[in-house]
Amino acid sequence: MNEFDLARFEEEAQEQWTHTFESNPSNLEKFYLTVAYPYPSGAMHVGHGRTYIVPDVIARFWRMRGKQVLYPMAFHVTGAPVIGISKRIANKDPKTIHLYRDLYNVPQNVLDEFTDPLTIVRHFASEYQRVMTACGISIDWRRRFTTVDPTYSKFIEWQWKHLYEAGHVIKGAHPVRYCTVDDNPVGDHDLLEGDKAEVIKFTLVMFRCGDAFIPTATLRPETIYGVTNLWSNPGITYVRALVDGTPWIISQEAAGKLVLQDHTVEIQGEIAGRDLVGTIVSHPICGKVPVLPADFVDPDVGSGLVMSVPAHAPFDYIALRDLQHAGKYTTIKPIALIKVEGYGEIPAQDAVERAGITSQMDSRMDTVTKEIYSAEFSKGKLFEKYGSKPVRVARDEVAALMIERYDSKIMYEFDTHPVVCRCGNKVKVKILHDQWFLKYSDPAWKKQVSDHLGDMALVPPEVRLEFDRTVDWLKDWACTRRVGLGTRFPWDITQLIEPLSDSTIYMAYYTIAHRIKEIDPKLLTPEVFDYIFLGKESADLPVKKKLEGMREEFLFWYPYNYRFSAKDLISNHLTFQLFHHVTIFPKDKLPLGMVVFGMGLLNGAKMSSSKGNVFLLEDAVKEFGADTVRMFLMGSAEPWQDFDWRNELVISTKKQIERFYSTVLELKDANGEPNDIDRWLISRLQSHIERTTTALTNFQTRQALQEAYFGIETDLKWYRRRLPEDCDGSRELHTLCSTWIRLLAPFIPFTGEHLWKQLAGEGLVSFAPWPVAEEKLVNTRIELAEELLARTVEDIESIKKLIQITPKSIIISLAPAWKHEIFLSIARADDRSTVIREIMKDDAMRRRGKEATDAAKQCTALIHRLPPQVVEPLTREQINEKGVFEAAKGFLEKEFGVPVHITEAESSEYAKSATALPFKPAIIIE
Ligand SMILES: [Zn+2]
Repeated sequence: MNEFDLARFEEEAQEQWTHTFESNPSNLEKFYLTVAYPYPSGAMHVGHGRTYIVPDVIARFWRMRGKQVLYPMAFHVTGAPVIGISKRIANKDPKTIHLYRDLYNVPQNVLDEFTDPLTIVRHFASEYQRVMTACGISIDWRRRFTTVDPTYSKFIEWQWKHLYEAGHVIKGAHPVRYCTVDDNPVGDHDLLEGDKAEVIKFTLVMFRCGDAFIPTATLRPETIYGVTNLWSNPGITYVRALVDGTPWIISQEAAGKLVLQDHTVEIQGEIAGRDLVGTIVSHPICGKVPVLPADFVDPDVGSGLVMSVPAHAPFDYIALRDLQHAGKYTTIKPIALIKVEGYGEIPAQDAVERAGITSQMDSRMDTVTKEIYSAEFSKGKLFEKYGSKPVRVARDEVAALMIERYDSKIMYEFDTHPVVCRCGNKVKVKILHDQWFLKYSDPAWKKQVSDHLGDMALVPPEVRLEFDRTVDWLKDWACTRRVGLGTRFPWDITQLIEPLSDSTIYMAYYTIAHRIKEIDPKLLTPEVFDYIFLGKESADLPVKKKLEGMREEFLFWYPYNYRFSAKDLISNHLTFQLFHHVTIFPKDKLPLGMVVFGMGLLNGAKMSSSKGNVFLLEDAVKEFGADTVRMFLMGSAEPWQDFDWRNELVISTKKQIERFYSTVLELKDANGEPNDIDRWLISRLQSHIERTTTALTNFQTRQALQEAYFGIETDLKWYRRRLPEDCDGSRELHTLCSTWIRLLAPFIPFTGEHLWKQLAGEGLVSFAPWPVAEEKLVNTRIELAEELLARTVEDIESIKKLIQITPKSIIISLAPAWKHEIFLSIARADDRSTVIREIMKDDAMRRRGKEATDAAKQCTALIHRLPPQVVEPLTREQINEKGVFEAAKGFLEKEFGVPVHITEAESSEYAKSATALPFKPAIIIE
């Protein structure tokens, strides 16, 4: 019956937990936490596991501390990914079928139904619920919904009415990330690669080449004065195309991009890159320059041709130098045009040489390029003959001049490459017309969010900077899509509200989700939601009684206390939700805090479903047990740190739980009389309670486990070592077990419930009162005495190892009173550098001379070595060292198997006794 069997504990607890985590308003203080809801398009892996288990541990902790805790869950099914998946399954795409059938273990008959996108999300939503439940995640499932439920859509329409009325929804032409295969704008979630890529504006500098133009895309049009040549990639094929009726020579890729940016493009023929080499082109500003060959030119960036400014661009500098080393184009000299502090005539040359870079392929080329770029932009000035203007001014002026007079155009590009859609297609920049946007660029709206952020609790604190940066650079956001699932856009029903725009205030919806299900969606007018969430009365509200209930529920739970999410959502979701909240809700209903997670690794590599590098959560639970999975995920790193799942480490976690389990069963029925060592154990327990509580209050799950598991386990080891031979411990151990189970219950609730029952605890441990440290049980004197003894035992052990003789006896020689005086003076001193001089002012000490100064130095060193939590109480509490060792004589003799003598150093015959210090007796082994 008492065998350690996690599967059985899980089964037992699940039976008792049915409906227990459903949470209603009460007279308790509330604690409402939420996690970003999942998009259920595949099976959960252990990385997802941590996302939901961290909040669960926190939820369980606060529940035990007597709060009314709400932890709800729903499913986000808005958007296009699932449509793509169902299409690929319908087309029998082998990769997709392999992923779903073999990796996610979807039975064939279910897979056959996946040609309907809704079936996919329905299937995985129920899988998520099943696996989350198996992990012991204490969710109120009554509140579950999906974002395509008609009632939810009504809620979203209400939300958007408010956004629109506040002037945040606008229509216009904007460059957006776009997938031409899906024929849809793409958000961060739709990307396989390049999810941080931003759209930036380039100037196309138009070089005349016969009857055609060669455009080159640049962010630094002012450097036209320093152009010495163009670069063409000899290995690719360019096209000649009529762009808006004018012939241009560009890469094929560029031709494809220009079509998406409001240009007409008609391809007339092909030109090999190598045939362009040697051509002379010209620009009214820099005159005639040749086209030279360079392999670094990427046809998929800009126009596929590059203007070369070797004096100010490290790539151009090295490429030209390499050609010249080969004896080619030796007459070309870099032309400098910008003066910048800290650099000589040719800044690019300086930067490259300082970094010791010899090759174009050096990985530091990007870094030195950025270095020059920002140095010149922030402090550079054009030479007198080019107008003496600072670079930041000249740049815009030259760009304007080129557009006005010299045929330049704007081209939008990403700042990083490549950017790849989930469908595998390369994402491009498209100018969308009549596109709806959320005007995140609005400074007044940004300010509202910044102001509120200042009032929020952010965990860990260093993410604040990233939030501030995100608010700062957020641009207008394309908020509708043509394809996908979701809520129709109220002002154009051919469009749908995209996933990052319909998932920003649903935390409020959770508060009423179970109640609103009873109401016919047709009755859910904006006035209904205005009443529930804003308390606005209006005539003829339907089902008023029910609405009042929802209003009460919202008022009780909102605002949420903490929102949990992975750190990659700071740049979108976590910040968007603040924008929406500040628009819709009053100040006292705005979010209170956020906790941001690190990422998950599997055997050292990033977890990725699409790359198959995942370990399914369900498999992990089956193999190791839910408690093991939980304890490993909580103990291997703090939530905001990255964690690495390794099976061999998970196995040792399971052994730890087993050890805890058997220790509790061994100790719980002990009934000896308590003595000093019991008082020590219970005293130590108070600080473990205290520190575990503080750690969990601060979301430090790892720190909490260190205290609650390892701290107590280490104490118990010492305790059992110190017990008299015929004693199994005292009845205090029952108290310890009860406390220990409760401290670990948030982490390993299944084992917790089982043991709680064994201990005859009242009700469920999930709702048992969290232990509270009791000051009156703290006994500093006993703790110090044991600390002294334990340290001495360690010293004896290490000396025994060193001298390698079979000891006949051990002599513990104690420091004299005057050394204790010195020790105390130093430990109590505010300034330890001058304290020795102070001590030596004392007549008695001065008479001792060198002996006293030496002792003072040794005491100082010892005090530095001892942990502060030992030194500090030593300044308050006198320890009778002799009494401690006399009382432990029997224990020491048993430990070392030889007679032990306690002597005073001053009357000792051994020279080594002179080294005795307070809290560190001299040890002589014979
Ligand atoms: Zn795509």
